[in-house]
Amino acid sequence: KDENKFARVNSKTIKQKHSSLSKKDEMFEASTRLSWTESSDPNRSSESMENEDEDMQCFEEEQEEQMVSKIWKGFDSEQASLPPVSSTDNFANLSEITERILLEELQKRYSTSQIYTYIGDILIAVNPCQSLPIYAKSISNQYHSCTAWEDLPPHIYAMAERAYKALIGDSCSQCCIISGESGAGKTESCKLFIQQLLRVASSDENNLNNKINQVNPLLEAFGNAVTVMNDNSSRFAKYVELFFSPEGKVLGAQLTEYLLEKSRLVIQGKGEMSFHIFYWMFSGFSPEEFELYGLRKITDHRYLRPLDIQLSTMINQENREKFWEVKECLKYIGFTQKDIQNLFTMLSAALHLGDVTFHPVGRNDAAQIHNMDTLKKVAAMLEVSGVELASALVAEYTMTRGEQIKKEFSVHQANDCRDALAKTIYGRLFSWIVNGINQMVHPAVEGDMTFQQIGIFDIFGFENFARNSFEQLCINLANEQIQLFTNEHMFFMEQKDCMLEGVPLVDLNFKSNQSTIDLFLQRHTGVLAILDEESRFPKATDSTLATKLHQTPGKMYPEIYKTPRDGGATFTIIHYAGSVTYDLRGILDKNRDTLPTAILYTMKTSNSLLVKELFQSKVTRIGSLAPSARQQRKRTTTKSPFEFFKKMKGAKPDSKKQVIVPPYASERKGPSTMAYHFKNSLADLVTKMQAAKPHFIRCIKPNNKKAPLQFYPELVLAQLRYTGVTEAVKIRKFGYALRIKFHDFLLRYEVLSRCIVPSYAMTPDDNNVKQYCSSVKLKTIRWGR
Ligand code: ATP
Ligand code: MG
Repeated sequence: KDENKFARVNSKTIKQKHSSLSKKDEMFEASTRLSWTESSDPNRSSESMENEDEDMQCFEEEQEEQMVSKIWKGFDSEQASLPPVSSTDNFANLSEITERILLEELQKRYSTSQIYTYIGDILIAVNPCQSLPIYAKSISNQYHSCTAWEDLPPHIYAMAERAYKALIGDSCSQCCIISGESGAGKTESCKLFIQQLLRVASSDENNLNNKINQVNPLLEAFGNAVTVMNDNSSRFAKYVELFFSPEGKVLGAQLTEYLLEKSRLVIQGKGEMSFHIFYWMFSGFSPEEFELYGLRKITDHRYLRPLDIQLSTMINQENREKFWEVKECLKYIGFTQKDIQNLFTMLSAALHLGDVTFHPVGRNDAAQIHNMDTLKKVAAMLEVSGVELASALVAEYTMTRGEQIKKEFSVHQANDCRDALAKTIYGRLFSWIVNGINQMVHPAVEGDMTFQQIGIFDIFGFENFARNSFEQLCINLANEQIQLFTNEHMFFMEQKDCMLEGVPLVDLNFKSNQSTIDLFLQRHTGVLAILDEESRFPKATDSTLATKLHQTPGKMYPEIYKTPRDGGATFTIIHYAGSVTYDLRGILDKNRDTLPTAILYTMKTSNSLLVKELFQSKVTRIGSLAPSARQQRKRTTTKSPFEFFKKMKGAKPDSKKQVIVPPYASERKGPSTMAYHFKNSLADLVTKMQAAKPHFIRCIKPNNKKAPLQFYPELVLAQLRYTGVTEAVKIRKFGYALRIKFHDFLLRYEVLSRCIVPSYAMTPDDNNVKQYCSSVKLKTIRWGR
């Protein structure tokens, strides 16, 4: 019965989508016509302008509804409803706390679709794995107009509101840190958080909100993929910044992407797929487009041939619609028709490049191109010389004493060189898209203008596969960094406050993961430093790298770094979320991430402006755009809460931990390796988090089957434990969950104030209270229930 109902709802949504797609087309055309008529016909009647405004508004509403409907599939706004407020909404208020109680309460709430729970001001979000009717505009309005946090049930909209109100009230930048395993719901939470901000702080500039709304589908098309953990897994990390005017209106946005998993383009693990865009292209291309890009069937292409997935099932109506949507988004954001065509030409070239094969010839088995016609197709698409590309793929050329020396590749080396080129094209194209988006949505900066901002981190979740390589190492390290930041903030800030106010400390048995960060990032002796050092030696091998790692960080951190019994090219790290074994095979090449000079030369001399742009130098980001971000960055050499806590306890400061910006942050000049860029990105990330007031969302995955209403207690318990949720509850409860500024307290509880502030009783006014508050140390009143 339910299936039938859903089928009906889905077919209705698809029909609506179709009609709105053609409507969108019309509106897009209309909006471009509009700008033309505006300049050419200044005498247009005000009536026609009003009609156009109405149409535009209608179009915007429709777009917003479509975006919501993606998260909120199949529900009409009339069906929108919230669960009632309950006594377990905030775990910090529970009278008794044990792991068992937490787990039971979370499970009970989940079974009634109460997916959100607070722990003090942290939000726990358990993935419902199904659409819930709790994200409609009416609900969003309820949270916007609500003044007391506990009057409505916990919600992601409440978190967005809290950040927004703090931004306006305290004139201080905010950031939201969303963490959790792969498939736990981080990206969906990020979208909902941004959606609420855009709804309540919509700018006067009509198109801006829509453009910002369109960013997500675009990024997901090019940066997400089906994995065994998640059908829409983010294969990159992102930091979205929304900039606000002093009146609290959104002025623009900026996006920073980190660490796209480029290797997915050329190889995918069992049950995994390449980036969504390829399957959507093959579903949505018209016959003319297939012709234009020289493509035929999806199964023709080696890069898209996963071993165990029926590719034909990927060509379907849903993916066709997604493809149209991507094209719409590109157009809407401001990419020209030519840009879009160039973009798909590059993607097709990367696919064709993957089909170039080599065979061994001669005495030394040198690689020779097997299918020149495919190579010619690639060269034509990249607008480079076929002869040059062909020779650059099979040999390396060096200059020694003014003489050019040719070193032929083996078939294996030529394969690697081809794949490296394809990965570079895809990676740089992704940055080019992000850069393009930034140019169209960033706020106009005039002079010394600064903006308040709300930043949202959506990073890739912790990963542990059968084989873990450099990508997993970076992903897990980024998660460790977020974990450290969250811990420091949650635990040490709380404890710092307690100490300042003379409240006895609670005994927490939560372990800091600082040493894991040090193990990876320490200068000279950290895993990444050693990897970089080895990458400089052409003769270094997996086993020389392994030996160095086992001997240095392995010996320094024996409790976290486990050397294999045979001393081979693997090592195991005991991460906060479990132990992961990393395979060092091929890691040096991945880290070097270099293309042979001949390939770079060929690409730089392309006749295609886009190829030239991609290969001129690394794509420049507008990362330095926002002056406020730059200014805040300067202010971040503060002591870490951890350091503070240690000092308060009388411990000697540890010079390594004195500055919160890690020491590797200053290594601005250095090798152009992946590890080097990653270290800088990570330092950037920490700096950004430090520069704002943080808000935390912890996403929890209730089961591994992506199935609704299935709650596996052991799986959830493991996540609660390693994310420190159980300890967080303890500390929030101990630290008194309810807080109010002393000043507000005195005004609100007038009767008590009369006892405390003697002059208040004589002449009750705010000034007396203010004066009194500035004369005492106590800034916040806390209490528990
Ligand atoms: P990764 O680290 O792999 O990127 P993630 O934590 O970002 O994972 P999401 O992609 O956000 O995970 O969520 C996985 C899936 O769970 C979504 O595609 C969606 O189907 C479902 N989901 C998550 N949150 C919600 C929600 N609030 N409402 C409905 N479905 C949700
Ligand atoms: Mg994600």
